[in-house]
Amino acid sequence: MTENQKDAGKNDAGKEAVLPPKSEFSEWFNSIIDIAQIMDVRYPVKGLYVWYPFGFGIRKRVYNIIRDVMDNSGHEETLFPLLIPETEFMKEADHIKGFEDEVFWVTHGGVTPLDIRLALRPTSETAIYPMYKLWVRSHADLPLKLYQVVNTFRHETKHTRPLIRLREITSFKEAHTVHATWEDAENQVDEAVGLYADIYRRLSVPFLISKRPDWDKFPGGDYTIALDTIMPDGKTLQIGTAHHLGTNFAKTYDIMYENADGAQEYANQTCYGISERSIAAVISVHGDDKGLVLPPSVAPVQIVVIPVLFKDTTKAVMDACENVVSALKERGLRVEMDASDLRPGAKYYKWELKGSCLRIEIGPRDLEKNSAVLVRRDKGEKQFVSLNGIGETVLSELKKMGDDLYGKAEEKMKAMITPCETPEEVAAVIGSGKGVAEISWCGRDACGMKIEEETNAGILGTPYAETAVRSGKCPVCGQESEQKIYIAKMY
Ligand code: ZN
Repeated sequence: MTENQKDAGKNDAGKEAVLPPKSEFSEWFNSIIDIAQIMDVRYPVKGLYVWYPFGFGIRKRVYNIIRDVMDNSGHEETLFPLLIPETEFMKEADHIKGFEDEVFWVTHGGVTPLDIRLALRPTSETAIYPMYKLWVRSHADLPLKLYQVVNTFRHETKHTRPLIRLREITSFKEAHTVHATWEDAENQVDEAVGLYADIYRRLSVPFLISKRPDWDKFPGGDYTIALDTIMPDGKTLQIGTAHHLGTNFAKTYDIMYENADGAQEYANQTCYGISERSIAAVISVHGDDKGLVLPPSVAPVQIVVIPVLFKDTTKAVMDACENVVSALKERGLRVEMDASDLRPGAKYYKWELKGSCLRIEIGPRDLEKNSAVLVRRDKGEKQFVSLNGIGETVLSELKKMGDDLYGKAEEKMKAMITPCETPEEVAAVIGSGKGVAEISWCGRDACGMKIEEETNAGILGTPYAETAVRSGKCPVCGQESEQKIYIAKMY
């Protein structure tokens, strides 16, 4: 550990913390959540974590983007209750089967047992759809496109970890839509996938889009489309799903509308969700050995200005720094000045750890030349920029950084997908942590499950809306097929 790390790397408990190299991804992730003050894991309930204000600052900006995309595509935000009566929850048989092992129940009011137990929502279909039955009357009410951002609860028995596997998902954005026809709902699923792609591009996170195999679709739905990203250790993280529900829930909850001819018909529905795994993806895909690398769209501090102070020039340098700070604030940028007593090296370490996108240093010699030193977090190289028009320079560097982060991450992700011919090759690719394997598949469940078994991995599904076909043979039954699947170890 260097002196700089000792100075700046102390967390609020006063203990010295060092970030493991990112090549040890699991340790790196756990450590950065703590040292960069994303979440405090010391809350005394398994799988529940506390947002530090800094982490919440990232969350707020990620969800601003999500809300912006939803609000600008004809969705309206709403809020439904956390508690779901058992009588409603138990109506849809497949749905119950999918969630019954994970539901937390409220059984008492004070010391009195409740007549009807109340479920803490694991997801909100069974809270929302009884109300949709009351709200949907006629084809003129459709489509109905609502969403909410809420906490949901699941009794995870696997190893829990912040942002990825939780008992309280704190930030579940779930949309629920109602349509007249199956085709309308199908189009809505495509729209949802497009919106999620837009959100992840704004977060500079690359993704694969797959149609999940039938045995892995949403309980009670017709089919599921999912977005996954590949984490640095080669495992995939599901970062968004969209489900076509057909009329399954409409039949259970009696959601009917009067069509143009005056006849009653069951409505078609979709639902789609994104959780704080979106933040896990941003942190994991871009971070490095020094800490967070945050896209400018979500960094709580986009620019840090550091005055380089010597006794007789202090005032001039401070004035110049303050001018830069106010020029950047005027442009709506999130900027801070660090005039603390830390040595320069310790300041760099601190702001690199926190993922501040740009560092601007101004010292007396820079002032003589009317310039400043600018360092981009993702590149680490110094460049000299004029103080005149520094606002423009900063805006353009931030824009470039967002684009570069996406480009670089996408290239890296594509290099982590390996075409394979046999289950042995698939197992070798996945076993060595190289990422996702791609193999032909005839489309039969039995063959798919056999492939999962032989490779000890999971099928993400078939690439969705991809035009390039790949001819090959199903490795189990030998049938010629133009269909391929992605297969990986998953979080
Ligand atoms: Zn087959």
